[in-house]
Amino acid sequence: MNIVGYGGGTDSTAMLVGLWQHHVPVDLILFADPGGEQPHTYHYLRIMNQWLQAHGMPGITQVWYTEKNGQRLTLERECLRSASLPSIAYGHKKCSLKHKVAPQEKFCAHYPPCQEVWDRGEKAVKLIGYDAGEEKRRLGALPHDLADRRYQKEYPLMEWGWDRNRCIQEIRNAGLPLPGKSSCFFCPSMKRREIRTLYHRYPDLLERALAIEDRARPNLLTVRGLGRNYAWRDFIEADQAQLAIPEVFAEDDLPCSCGGEIKAMKGSEVVTDGLASCGSQDRAGRTHK
Ligand code: SF4
Repeated sequence: MNIVGYGGGTDSTAMLVGLWQHHVPVDLILFADPGGEQPHTYHYLRIMNQWLQAHGMPGITQVWYTEKNGQRLTLERECLRSASLPSIAYGHKKCSLKHKVAPQEKFCAHYPPCQEVWDRGEKAVKLIGYDAGEEKRRLGALPHDLADRRYQKEYPLMEWGWDRNRCIQEIRNAGLPLPGKSSCFFCPSMKRREIRTLYHRYPDLLERALAIEDRARPNLLTVRGLGRNYAWRDFIEADQAQLAIPEVFAEDDLPCSCGGEIKAMKGSEVVTDGLASCGSQDRAGRTHK
């Protein structure tokens, strides 16, 4: 039972391409959606689903966090409701654990093929898209990997020696556009240039991010805003006052805190055509709560 946790970014896209190239069977591809990915990522899921279908691979199964009453809870709504920022702003990863890791684990816990594997006393294989330059990250995960009783973690990109540049090349060779940044549009790990890009590319999403921040600000003690030691609103207003906001930054190389990534790429090659609004669901693949 081989499971891919697909993040919609460069590494996990390259991993799917490589798994096909290396004839590694894939049984399940999960994409956990906190509800706040940027439109180009939702659009890319459609592109990737078409590619997967054309290459005889399973479609992307979308999962998300649900409350006890079965209702979906997006991270944006959770932040607005609690008047707080995503937890990564305070230095811990509860937001990604709750909205990305937990929905995948919950899905697998109820997925009969996984249950059959566990009933046999075996482990399901989880294929993780850390590239060959991320050995430190892998070592950091090692204690957890070794203690995991349900999953055997494998890192195919490292096995193949695919670093970030090779990943980009393989995505291009597969005839796919590059996926661009994959992270919540209000992620506190975004750098200033990424916030400026949001300002230019998705001003409506920037407003929604600022709404999260505005609501949380009266409660903030240890951080000042979504930028941790600064508020995004202050940053944007200062930039506007100085007429200093440049055009969209086409290049960046900063992984997001939960594994999404943005990579050096030519703007024309990056998927930026957000056909799906943020928080909407791509119905091209199977969709599960
Ligand atoms: S992208 Fe950022 S805000 Fe969203 S779940 Fe990951 S760490 Fe949290």
